[in-house]
Order: sequence, then structure tokens, then C-alpha cells
Amino acid sequence: MSKKIAVLAGDGIGPEVTAEAVSVLKAVSSDFEFEFALVGGAAYDDGGHPLPQSTLDLCKQADAVLFGSVGGPKYDKIQPPELRPEVGALLPLRKELNLYANVRPAKTMRALLGASPLKPENAAMDLVVMRELTGGIYFARPRERRDDGNTAVDTCIYSKYEVVRIAEHAFSIARQRRSEIVSVDKANVLETSRLWREVVTEMASQNPDVKVTHMLVDNCAMQLVRNPSQFDVILTENMFGDILSDEASMITGSLGLLPSASLSDHKEGKVFGLYEPIHGSAPDIAGQGKANPIAAILSAAMLLRYSFEDDVTARKIEDAVEAVLDAGLRTADIYQPGLKLASTGEMGQAILEQLR
Ligand code: NAD
Repeated sequence: MSKKIAVLAGDGIGPEVTAEAVSVLKAVSSDFEFEFALVGGAAYDDGGHPLPQSTLDLCKQADAVLFGSVGGPKYDKIQPPELRPEVGALLPLRKELNLYANVRPAKTMRALLGASPLKPENAAMDLVVMRELTGGIYFARPRERRDDGNTAVDTCIYSKYEVVRIAEHAFSIARQRRSEIVSVDKANVLETSRLWREVVTEMASQNPDVKVTHMLVDNCAMQLVRNPSQFDVILTENMFGDILSDEASMITGSLGLLPSASLSDHKEGKVFGLYEPIHGSAPDIAGQGKANPIAAILSAAMLLRYSFEDDVTARKIEDAVEAVLDAGLRTADIYQPGLKLASTGEMGQAILEQLR
């Protein structure tokens, strides 16, 4: 039976980079059925809402979702704010699809080691940050509050089931890699972190094929810039993951290269996920053929790996990207003098040819 992929290209450079990712998926398999739907500003322009019910229904019926990006200056002043693309589409989509596990690989490409802010000899890195996305201090009830105008309160709450379900994804992802998890917390201070550590420790004893260690978040932030190659999978809660995944992204040198997945529960034995580049809609370069499609193409590789358990094809796509970069092709964002400048379409085409 063919697999249904919902394609939500969105706004700005979203449609440009998503088109290249779809071409790559079509090239690697004839088994996919693509269904396209509007989201974000494009959907607002069309029907007055950034997340139409039909788009949401399509995502719920699909086996996986390929997402571009939403937003742009044209939509920043929409009233009420709930109808703006990011607030009205992205956040409800994550909530409705229960996408509680955010997976952000950060890998320095051989050809781009010099683009890292770290010294090239320290910049080699191939890790995944596994961030809990729907709990912790960003979501806890009662909501943040200011009692008397001078005192503010945020509440961090985690329950055992929230730690168990994200840790299960982390174990499964670690097994597809070097089978090493560093669980990051602040267990010397926070009670939620002590619960987190207890649960992960218990699960580690039930999964002895994966090596699990624990690290305090401040140490982890330091170790990431000291020696990022020591990490395989970093498993952590929402706020720590927010900060550490941005730190890890920066080490790779460019926003246009980094994919992500947001995963939910297993659906009929398969992981359900939404896959998207970490960058936004880049209105400054939209429609000019300047966008780097690599983050979107690597998001398609993640879709194959996590939703369809096809690690072999995912690796082929990743290898094709590395080979094209090794050969000196560059979009404008990663261009250096002496190398060959490519448009969005030329970069996508070169990756397709390398795949064939
Ligand atoms: P951005 O990621 O869109 O752009 C930041 C800078 O990086 C820009 O200079 C842009 O040209 C460049 N850039 C980004 N992706 C690139 C690519 N693939 N190739 C080459 N260069 C690239 O962030 P921003 O400017 O802060 O936000 C623009 C809009 O996107 C805003 O409306 C924001 O809310 C939205 N946004 C959406 C998402 C999402 O849909 N998940 C994420 C972040 C931002």
C-alpha cells in the first residue's frame, strides 16, 4: 500500500525548498502518494485561517507530514494574534498532532568544518538533541503569573509518563546510531530533574544495549563547545533542549543545512512525525532562487528514517548531500570565493543527480 505524505509548504522560501525535498522523495521511491495543503499565511490569504480544518484533517490521515515554513512581515500584524501563521498554525499543529518529541540532528559537514565558530579540529560533531516539546516550564499549569507586579512565577511540572514516552523515542533513535544517550538535567537542584533522572535510570536498566549516562545541563553546555564529538544522543527536557539544540546548531555553521523532526506516539506500529527545516520563511530571499534546500532535503531523509524505518535510503540522501558539498557546490548562504554558486533548483538537481 502506498504511503501518504501530507506536504505543507507554507510561506516565503517554504514552497521553494519543499519542492526540492519532494523531488528527492519521488526519486527514491514510487511508493509515496503526496497530498498538498495550504498552511500559514498562504492559507490565511486563501480562506482567512492559517490552519484550515481540511489541512489538519489531511495531516491526521497521513503517514507523515513534510512541512516548509510559515510567516512573514505581511502577516505580523494580523488581529487577533491567534490568526498569525506561527501562533495560529505551527503551535496548534504540534498540539493537535501531539508532537511531543523534537529531534534535532546537528552534524558538521566535512566540507563546511571551516564555517563552524569552533576551530576546525574541534568542530567535528554528529549528534541528535532529543528535546521534550510539550511539557515542563513552558506549558505547566497554573500558567506563569505576576502576583503583585513585582514578583513573577513560572512552574515546571513533569510527570513520569512524559519522561517515559520521550525516553522511548530516544532509545529507539540511539539504536539507529551509536547507541549512546547522555540524559541532561539539573538533578542537583530541581525536583523535576530528580524525577527525570530516576525514570531514565530505570529505563536504562531495562535497555542494556544502549549506554546511558547523566550530565548536568551547565556541564553539557560547556562540553558542547569543548568537545561536541563526545555526544551521540542528548536526551533532555523542554527548556534545556531549547537552549542546547540552538547551541549545537550554531556549531555546524549554517541555518540552511539543519533538519528536524517532531514525533508523536506510534501509530499502528509506526512513528508519526512532522519533518521540517529549522529555519523560517526567510522573506528577505524568498522567490529569488537563493534559498538553500539542504535542510528541507535532510528533513525528507529524516522522514524516511523515522516514519518509514528506511535508514538505508536516508543515508543515501545524506551521503549525496555531503558529496555535492565536497564537490564545491554552494548556495549563497554558504558560498566562499573559488567555489561554484548554485541556485535552489541547481542545488536540488545536483543532489538528485548524485543520488542517481
Ligand atoms: P529565518 O530562519 O527565516 O531567516 C533568518 C536568516 O537566515 C535570513 O537572513 C534568511 O535569509 C536566512 N535563511 C534562513 N533559511 C535559509 C535557507 N534555507 N537558505 C539560505 N538562507 C536562509 O528567520 P527570521 O528571519 O527570524 O523569520 C522569518 C519568518 O519566518 C518570521 O515570520 C518567523 O516568524 C518565521 N519562522 C517560521 C518558522 C517555522 O515555520 N517553523 C521558524 C522560524 C521562523
